[in-house]
Amino acid sequence: MAVETAVERLYNFSAGPAAIPLSVLQQAQKELLSLPGCGASVMEISHRSPQFGDVMAEAEQRLRRLLDVPENYRVLFLQGGSRLQFSMVPMNLMLADSSANYLLSGAWGKNALSEARKSGAVNVVWDGATTNYDRLPRQDDVTLDSNASYLHLTSNETIQGVQFQEDLDWGDVPVVGDMSSDFLSRPVDVSRYGLIYACAQKNAGLAGLTVVIIRDDLLDRSSDGLPGYLNYRLHAEANSLWNTPPTFGIYLFGLITKWLEEEVGGLSAMRKQNQDQAKSLYDVVDASDGFYQGHAQPDCRSLMNVTFRLPNEGLQSQFISEAAEHQLDALKGHRSVGGIRASIYNAMTDAGVDVLRQFMNDFRDRHANR
Ligand code: PMP
Repeated sequence: MAVETAVERLYNFSAGPAAIPLSVLQQAQKELLSLPGCGASVMEISHRSPQFGDVMAEAEQRLRRLLDVPENYRVLFLQGGSRLQFSMVPMNLMLADSSANYLLSGAWGKNALSEARKSGAVNVVWDGATTNYDRLPRQDDVTLDSNASYLHLTSNETIQGVQFQEDLDWGDVPVVGDMSSDFLSRPVDVSRYGLIYACAQKNAGLAGLTVVIIRDDLLDRSSDGLPGYLNYRLHAEANSLWNTPPTFGIYLFGLITKWLEEEVGGLSAMRKQNQDQAKSLYDVVDASDGFYQGHAQPDCRSLMNVTFRLPNEGLQSQFISEAAEHQLDALKGHRSVGGIRASIYNAMTDAGVDVLRQFMNDFRDRHANR
């Protein structure tokens, strides 16, 4: 049975690449052969054409409005995913005779750290390993080096499902936020960050586009000796046209920011929807008498990736296969931690969450204490 339209579409809980709003896909489908006024697909025109220039400028303006990006920040449309940012950040921002500080709240923070080690001195300022990354530090649990080049943190750990709900004030050290899996899910105080990066394939569209927002004074740190593509300053000077940017991804990003502004009503409304959807799933976990065990401590729970376990592996597999019969797709936890992960990014519909919630209750009723 089709769940969204006449075209068969599942309730997609994939962690990324992830669901895209249906109206965005429909718009892209409508314009695929010819972008209005252009006579060609957006995929077929020069990245330096005036038509593509308009697409990119509009995408950037919408992003700036949504996040209220201050004037002294540049927006870069890059490639290479967030993994390339794990390298570009230290290559560009590390200062001589200073260390980079890393806050490790899960698997992605650890991956970022291991790339940074290749560029210079790093200092782990907090590590959630002892409790298997089920929580986040309070601000006073973290002592930064006062002359650190930057502090790197992961706003939402996609695998473990722990998320900072606020933008903490870390003082003068520039904060680099990996926002890959909660970008545009809530308002962010951009001024608290030196640099924000996010691969687009979760809340912002297509794999292949990575969005970077960087405070302009930090561009002075990029050395001329860096390989060209890896140099933020070159991308900023060329307005993201230093090489051919991922044009279709930028176009789709424009449609998603338009959807956020015009259909959702901005990021506060988006956050409310995300809070409500996450609460309805965590409520099932909490009311299950231990049948479902959430991974994250309640005050650190992610609104994007809801992670939990069932009493044993057999029930976990059964959960996944029975869920598929209800059109509930991609619920298997990450291979490194197991369990179940329901990724409910911006494009997840209330209907999808409702079907999952009912299925979870029903599954528990049938299997608890048997
Ligand atoms: N950081 C986070 C928080 C992520 O969730 C991911 C991807 N799941 C990455 C980094 C890596 O992104 P990419 O695969 O685009 O390099």
